[in-house]
Amino acid sequence: MTRPMKLRFAPSPTGYLHVGGARTAIFNLLHGRRHGGTMLLRIEDTDVERSRQHHAEQIVSALNWLGVEYDEGPIYQSDRLDRYRQRVDELLEKGSAYLCFCSVEVLDDERQAAEKAGKQYKYSGRCRRAADRGDEDREGPHVVRCRVEPGRIEFRDLIRGDVHFEGENLDDFVLLRSDRNPTYHLSVVVDDIDMDVTHVARGDDHLSNTPKHILLFRAFGAEVPVFAHLPLILGSDRKRLSKRTGATSVEEYRSLGILPDALFNFLSLLGWSPGGDREIITRSESEKIFDLSDVNKAAAVFDDEKLSWLNGQYLSRMPARDIYPHLLSFLTMPIDDDDRLFMIIDLFKSRSRTLRDLAQSLIPYYIEDEALEYDAAAVSKHLKGEDVARRLRDVRDALAAVEPFTIEGGDKAVRELAEKSGLGAGKYIHPLRVALVGQLSSPPIFDVAVALGKERSLRRVDRLLGNLPALSS
Ligand code: GLU
Repeated sequence: MTRPMKLRFAPSPTGYLHVGGARTAIFNLLHGRRHGGTMLLRIEDTDVERSRQHHAEQIVSALNWLGVEYDEGPIYQSDRLDRYRQRVDELLEKGSAYLCFCSVEVLDDERQAAEKAGKQYKYSGRCRRAADRGDEDREGPHVVRCRVEPGRIEFRDLIRGDVHFEGENLDDFVLLRSDRNPTYHLSVVVDDIDMDVTHVARGDDHLSNTPKHILLFRAFGAEVPVFAHLPLILGSDRKRLSKRTGATSVEEYRSLGILPDALFNFLSLLGWSPGGDREIITRSESEKIFDLSDVNKAAAVFDDEKLSWLNGQYLSRMPARDIYPHLLSFLTMPIDDDDRLFMIIDLFKSRSRTLRDLAQSLIPYYIEDEALEYDAAAVSKHLKGEDVARRLRDVRDALAAVEPFTIEGGDKAVRELAEKSGLGAGKYIHPLRVALVGQLSSPPIFDVAVALGKERSLRRVDRLLGNLPALSS
């Protein structure tokens, strides 16, 4: 009988959730959803030196934010230490593992000798031979090693195809450290067996661990899962993604103002394509077509520019009401979620690439008139003309007469003014823009005026008129 499909995401909590890890989580999730399987989250925190509880919590919260909905967990390996020790005892009993008393010094000497001889280091097996001889009276600190037999280890990777390793090249690797804590190899395999994991999709960097894991599955008499090793993610410099080329964690992208759905979409395209030139694909669509076996072998390049473009696409397609909750943490002042705000968000959402940009754009609409600053370039470009005060006064009067205060009404009033005076409409609109938002550019000016409201718009023109002598001198 085939087992129900189960995948897992198994991060080590040694830092923030790396975007590569998030991509692994997403691929696991999508493959599971596509095939009606489930996914569990397992925190691999047995490395006490490097694991931190707050990192585990951050990883969980980053996954929740990203919308990676696991079906089980988080399970903490640190809660299962006894189980690993128990299973290692079984291997010792079966003879698939042995105690190794070699001291750090002995191992260092061996390593140095190998280095001098230009050979790749491999444990000499001196304790294995002692165990074979039935040398029982050895005592003192020891580790437990797995007994690796020579022979070929083959498996079919969903992404890389047929892979094989020679047992001769593998070390008798350590399963239990001298402090009785398990190594990654032991805990990962014990857990994958206990938790009925059928598919292991993880980073390429684990490929060389897989033969060891296969040997362990066999030693435990368990079914070997299907493996899929995901290609590396490179930075824009074509080297392994690192801080050199920008942000690397989900948290950082969150604080830069990337939407979770956009990041999810972007990460799902790192090594996978839904076909054609399609770049925008929702999670539920991906869940219908994703398959680990369609993932590319070649490394994927993390293109920040594409991510911010994609984020802009998501922003421009989202209703303002849905953007608001994401925007909250970027607002520098309290802003109510009323119709005026939604109107302003709608004005800016397709001009913004990030929530940060969008939040920034809202400022002139909410600050006190007195706090509005005039951009120097806007001042020198549009406020230097001789008759600028007169034009501002005329446009003010024209707007004051618009009732009701609508976009069309404002547009008509200024067009009439321009016709009457024989000046271009721009001669009125540009200084008006400086008055209303202090900047060289903005969304269409009457949208801006309506978003500000009549009263505030007129006040801001008056204020600029009052400041004009100082500004234009
Ligand atoms: N804990 C490992 C890591 O964070 C992953 C283990 C696995 O997926 O087998 O790299």
